[in-house]
Amino acid sequence: MELELLYEGKAKKVYQSDTNENHLILSYKNAATAFNGEKKAQFTGKGRLNNEISSLLFKALQNKGIQSHFIKRLDSVTQMVQKTDIIPLEVVIRNIATGSITKRLDIQEKTLFEPALAELFYKDDSLGDPLINDEHALFLTDITEEELSSIKEKARQVNLALTEIFAAIGVRLVDFKLEFGRNKEGKILLSDEVSPDTCRLWDMETNEKLDKDVFRQGTGDLITVYEEILNRLEDQL
Ligand code: UDP
Repeated sequence: MELELLYEGKAKKVYQSDTNENHLILSYKNAATAFNGEKKAQFTGKGRLNNEISSLLFKALQNKGIQSHFIKRLDSVTQMVQKTDIIPLEVVIRNIATGSITKRLDIQEKTLFEPALAELFYKDDSLGDPLINDEHALFLTDITEEELSSIKEKARQVNLALTEIFAAIGVRLVDFKLEFGRNKEGKILLSDEVSPDTCRLWDMETNEKLDKDVFRQGTGDLITVYEEILNRLEDQL
């Protein structure tokens, strides 16, 4: 039986599970986009790599006591997750300055942020996902002040956990983006994906970029570097 397609995004398709009303099936696509969808390409194998990497990372986070929507990986490109309504916020945590912040605030590339910087962006393609502050977030979404502070606290816990996980495979976690969703019981859960599409990952020894920046900047082969991340995680986890 064909599953009902609920939503198709830039990197994933979202299907309703046919066995549990509260579960979704995420299918990772081979498409890569950058600069708010202006640059596009297909990479054979990208869907599998991100599905496997994201599944391993959600499991590793779970082992460190951080819950998410992740239930299990089903096959090479799909995973089963708890159904949530995505809160239209992108929570970005930055350990090292690079990317948009260096231009926006004229901060020197590679400046260390200690403590890490947390930023909020409003998830709206037509507006180009603008940077917003807490008050904007409370106005634009249905979350309460308490929920916003627990989302930010959770993002910082994810940062500590992921920093450790990546350090163990010789990779520096530079920055990353998280999304959160609300399940049927009203509980806010870490959702979406954690992958080299959504994290900046630099090799600790060579500083080689092992993430989507190789595609954004046209400096390397996306599949080769995503495979490198998956291989290292598989050896370690
Ligand atoms: N990011 C993401 N999706 C977005 C925007 C950013 O996953 O729509 C991630 C990006 O991969 C990086 C971090 O969030 O790890 C910070 O990105 P930044 O704001 O520097 O954006 P960029 O320089 O890519 O425009």
